[in-house]
Amino acid sequence: MNIGIVGGGIAGLTTALRLINRGHRIFLFEKDENLGGLAQAIDFSGAKLDKFYRHIFKSDKEIIELINELNLQNKLKWIKTPMGFYYEGKIYNFSTPVDLLKFSPLPFIDRIKLGLMSLYLKGVKNWRKYENITIKEWMEKYVGKKIYDVVWGPLLRQKFGDRADEIAMTFLYGRISARFKSRKKGGTEEVLGYLEGSYQVLIDKMENIIKQSNCQIFKNTTVEKLITENNKLKAIIANGKEYPLDIVILTCSPDIIKKLYNWHKDFDEKLGKHEYFGALTLIMSIKYSLSKIYWLNIADENSPFVAVVEHTNFISKENYNNNHIIYLGKYLSTENILYKMRDEEVKNLFLNYLKRIFPFLNEKDVLDYKVVREPYAQPVVKKNYSEILLDYKTPVQGIYIANMSQIYPEDRGMSYSVKIGNAVSNLIIKENL
Ligand SMILES: Cc1cc2nc3c(=O)[nH]c(=O)nc-3n(C[C@H](O)[C@H](O)[C@H](O)COP(=O)(O)OP(=O)(O)OC[C@H]3O[C@@H](n4cnc5c(N)ncnc54)[C@H](O)[C@@H]3O)c2cc1C
Repeated sequence: MNIGIVGGGIAGLTTALRLINRGHRIFLFEKDENLGGLAQAIDFSGAKLDKFYRHIFKSDKEIIELINELNLQNKLKWIKTPMGFYYEGKIYNFSTPVDLLKFSPLPFIDRIKLGLMSLYLKGVKNWRKYENITIKEWMEKYVGKKIYDVVWGPLLRQKFGDRADEIAMTFLYGRISARFKSRKKGGTEEVLGYLEGSYQVLIDKMENIIKQSNCQIFKNTTVEKLITENNKLKAIIANGKEYPLDIVILTCSPDIIKKLYNWHKDFDEKLGKHEYFGALTLIMSIKYSLSKIYWLNIADENSPFVAVVEHTNFISKENYNNNHIIYLGKYLSTENILYKMRDEEVKNLFLNYLKRIFPFLNEKDVLDYKVVREPYAQPVVKKNYSEILLDYKTPVQGIYIANMSQIYPEDRGMSYSVKIGNAVSNLIIKENL
């Protein structure tokens, strides 16, 4: 059989890894010049650096298993990470229950409620009850308007802009349960995982294994069309060339999948209901540290970015020519004017706001910078999302889907891309191979 995989991110690479060496010909198509998708690294400050800030949680079972399987466990480091919260001009520590108790923007009773809310959600098994209620509605009903207004509202607005109030409670449930499983000492201390040398190390290892097998990798190759006969896959067109295939796995977004084929009306409508936000990140190397905090949430609607991630408070600056690495991240619609701004304009806008948080920062001390954009970065999870959730199988024989939109109720992450890669390949093996 000829099997095609569209997309060389973590999901596509995992799928390839599971399907190689079974006596079939595998073709992996990636439109970019490099593999890795959102998890790719770039050359920056003398090292490979993930193009988006990156860590894993202790609960990320599938990626930890993959790291072990590929003998990379010695490179996986678990590190204690201080978190912060910027609110009305002040930075608050936001890592431990004690920090929460000291979080003065909320009345004391609300600080207790915020802590109890996380503990409660951690224990919830039946997430389906959160399907038809938004985070805003749930919080205002059960926890308090002030907690939404001060903490969660601003954070959600930074991630989903003016769509924040539409985000389903399942999204918050997914995030909080993953986060809690990453904590030690009864929830008081958080450790996050990083792969020495960036997650590119994992991607390169997968690429090498796949290359040495019966899989051909085509980079800079965009899949443009799916061709079928009698409702069965026949071939794909990539960069204008036809490749006969029996099976194809699409790891790209529903929006792209919609354009690849003239789908049956119902399925086409389902694909069309999916929405993604893009990501825009300014990466900088600077001469000094901004604070001791690794992840600083910015709860201010006027801020052009959602978080200040000081990567070198997580991984030593020695890896980056002793420079300090800062990511300023933002999720937004690709229609947003900010997404379309020139790199230098983004840098100036972000730096202007950053100087309000850290007035000692001098632009001259920024040694290098890079702006990174990705259009399909975060599925927008609205109420009753399971109604539009896509199966691995499509209505057309031989065409399968394994993409981020299928990760639910958890929030998307690399480990879940490994999980869907494992799941779709198991299904294909069971049904066809
Ligand atoms: C800002 C940001 C921070 C993040 N931080 C973390 C983190 O700390 N920890 C974590 O675990 N996860 C994090 N993630 C999420 C994680 O990066 C993703 O969940 C994961 O990498 C998705 O992998 P994927 O293979 O499913 O999708 P993708 O990486 O999107 O891969 C899809 C691939 O398909 C290719 N493609 C699309 N269309 C075509 C076509 N027509 N033909 C050929 N190729 C095509 C794309 O170029 C891409 O390479 C973060 C994401 C972002 C945006």
